[in-house]
Parts: sequence; C-alpha cells; structure tokens
Amino acid sequence: MNREPGLLVVGASLAGLRAVEAARRDGWDGPITLLGGEPVLPYDRPPLSKAVLNSDSPPELKPFRTEAELVDGLGVTLALGERATGLDLAGSVVITDRRSLGYSRLVIATGSSPLRLPGVALSDRILTLRTWHDAVALHQRLAHGGRLVVVGAGFIGAEIASAAARRGLAVTLVEAAEAPLVPALGQTVARAVAELHAANGVNLTTGTKVVSVVEGTHTVTINLDDGRALPAETVVVGIGSRPEQAWLAGSGLSLGNGVSCDAALAAAPNVYAAGDVASWPNPAFDGDVMRLEHWTSAAEQGMWAGRNAVRADDEPFSTVPYFWSDWYDNRIQFLGRYSDDLEIVGNIAEHRFIALYRRGDRLVGAMGLNSPAMMRLRTAITDRTDFGAVRDSLLVGPGAAR
Ligand SMILES: Cc1cc2nc3c(=O)[nH]c(=O)nc-3n(C[C@H](O)[C@H](O)[C@H](O)COP(=O)(O)OP(=O)(O)OC[C@H]3O[C@@H](n4cnc5c(N)ncnc54)[C@H](O)[C@@H]3O)c2cc1C
Repeated sequence: MNREPGLLVVGASLAGLRAVEAARRDGWDGPITLLGGEPVLPYDRPPLSKAVLNSDSPPELKPFRTEAELVDGLGVTLALGERATGLDLAGSVVITDRRSLGYSRLVIATGSSPLRLPGVALSDRILTLRTWHDAVALHQRLAHGGRLVVVGAGFIGAEIASAAARRGLAVTLVEAAEAPLVPALGQTVARAVAELHAANGVNLTTGTKVVSVVEGTHTVTINLDDGRALPAETVVVGIGSRPEQAWLAGSGLSLGNGVSCDAALAAAPNVYAAGDVASWPNPAFDGDVMRLEHWTSAAEQGMWAGRNAVRADDEPFSTVPYFWSDWYDNRIQFLGRYSDDLEIVGNIAEHRFIALYRRGDRLVGAMGLNSPAMMRLRTAITDRTDFGAVRDSLLVGPGAAR
C-alpha cells in the first residue's frame, strides 16, 4: 500500500480538477493524487451533447489541461482508468480496483451517472450520454442517419434531439410526463420551450411511458404504454442521473441524495465532496439542502472543497445555482430555484423572455430564453434585491427583455 499521506482526489473531471488546482494555489506542497475511472485526461462534458454531436467531423478530445501541465506543472500523480471501490474512513484509505491508497485529505468528486430504463440493456444502438466514450459512440450512430428515438425530454435529451435533427435524422422525443420540464420551469415556461421541438421538426410525444425496447436485426422498437411502437435505428436513454456513490456504501459516510456534507462541503473530518455527487445546505437559500448537476457549481464546489481540504478554517460554500442549455440555436439559462409564483418579462411568442420566480418580495430564481440579462440577476438573487426593483430594471435597463 502507498502510505504516503497527501491529498487524494477521487474523480478526475471538472470538480476533481478544480480541487487539485485550488489546493496548489492555496500553497499545499504535499503529494496530490488524482484518481479517475475514465482512461483519459479530465475534459469538459457540456460540449458532448452540443459541439461534438452537432459536428459532422470525427470528434477530437480536448482535455482541460495537458498531462505535462498536470504532472510537471501542478505536481499531480495521475491514476487514470482506475476506479475507487471502497473507503476505509478509520484507516484513511481508499481501496481501488488495483490497490489501496492512503490519504491525509480526501476530496470525493465522482459525479453522477445516467439512469437506465429497467430491463433495457445498453448496446451499440441503445445508448446513454455521459462520457467521451459515449459521445464518440453516439456521434458514429448519428452519422448513419435514419430514425432516432430519445427517451426523456429533459435538457440533455433535448440537446441530443436538437443535434440529431440538425444532422438530418428523423427524431422523436418520448416524455413520460404530460409536458417536459414542468417541475423545473412551471407550465407556461415549460410549454414555451417545448414548442422549440416542433418548430425545429422534432416530434415530441408526451404522457407516454416506454414499456419495452426490443432489438431486431436492423431496427430497435420502442413500445409505448399507449400501444404505439416506434421503430428506430438508434435509441438514446436520457432520463436523468444518480450520484456515483455506490463505492462509498458501508464507509460510514452519510449517503442520501448524494454524499451528505456540511456547509463547508465536509462529509467527515478531512473528507470533502464536490460536484454532482455532493449534497450540502446552501447558505444562499437559508440552508436548504441541494444537490446540483450543473457545470458552474461543480467547478465552484471543486475549488472550494480543494481549498477547505488543505486549510484549517472550513469556510461555508454558498452559491446561486446556474446552468445553461443550447437547443436549436436557442440558449436557455436557469438561475436559483423554481417557485410557482412567477412573472414573465419579454415576449414568449418571439422566444425571447425571462421568467422571474419569486417568494414573497424576494427574487429566488430566473429562467431566460435568449436573454442577455441573466448574469446580473444572479447578483440580484445573492443580494436579496427586492423583486419589484429587479423586474423594473429588466423593463428599462440595458439589455432589457422587451
Ligand atoms: C452531455 C452533458 C452535457 C451537459 N451540459 C451541461 C450544460 O450545458 N450546462 C451545465 O450547467 N451542465 C451541463 N452538464 C452537467 C455538467 O457537465 C456536470 O454537472 C459536471 O460535469 C459535473 O462535474 P463532476 O466533476 O462533479 O462530475 P463528472 O463530470 O460526472 O465527473 C466524475 C468523474 O468521476 C469518475 N468516477 C466515478 N466513479 C468513480 C470511481 N468509483 N472511481 C474513480 N473515478 C470515478 C467518473 O468516471 C468521472 O470521470 C452536462 C453533462 C453532460 C453529461
């Protein structure tokens, strides 16, 4: 066993990389090991369902940093293509599929992985999209053309549908709910963004569940609970994700919807979690416990966890959640949290508006479709600016959502 104590970061992606960078920036001069299950350098995931799938050219992996930058520049020992399988908290040891690794500080950044349809095995024609490997496989399938069925009309499903439609495939999106994204956005806003599918030639089927997926010689058939059968050359399952925490079972860490952390992202003494796998009480929302699956929070939390792991003073991590999604040349952005009390500023029919979500006289969230004014709303939510003042500033300010 490698007993040299140091910072061990499990999960070599966005949050893990930011943890490593922050630890070095903060003056940590001990050993750092970055352990990652994928056999490639850390890379960015959002382009997988956007630029990578939209392009007709073969995908090219562009890591965040080169191996030399990580190894020589930051002094990181890379352990890629190696998976953590267990954690011995009392002994400060992570067990991997090859060995045991001791640590003095640990950052858990193992992200999330796609949910599967019960009883449906993945194959070269039935895919999910999470990793570079998945994106290359899906890119190849889209190059064949034909019919694509995407099960799940959430943000990633919608991006896949958008890319495939652009590349000339006949696309059907299958959504179990009566309308996609209603719990996240509310009826009016969800309907407005759902209209983008039909407007761009994608068939959206709602209120129907998949009962079985049958692979034939040339096609895959998706059987729906309303009796319809959809034939397709390719099927993508995009029905959400779950935190990658099975390897921590029995470790003594509290695991619920993610690894439970305190406000400083600490899950146990000298153990921190960050990114999609972490849940924590967010001080920006009065300590409401959140687990986010957004790029920005994974980057911020990774940085914060790396910093707290190598310092003595645990600082609470506070953020206003933010994510974006690109469909059919439209940019959707979401900030903060949903509330069913909302006002729309702008023009829904022209696909340019902001929905402002309020609780009492406080702005708690905002969703923008093709709106340039979003980032200043993040500050308004942080500063707890009065709702009326924010709305009025949108009506008259620069970049007004008219
Ligand atoms: C296709 C796609 C498009 C997206 N688009 C957007 C977007 O437009 N906007 C947005 O805000 N967010 C987007 N996201 C979400 C965003 O990319 C994630 O929130 C972010 O990647 C989370 O970073 P992370 O480091 O926490 O986890 P991940 O990026 O999931 O990385 C976790 C890493 O840990 C590794 N790992 C897991 N288990 C183990 C183990 N036991 N041992 C070792 N390694 C392990 C995994 O292999 C993986 O490399 C998108 C995600 C995907 C998949």
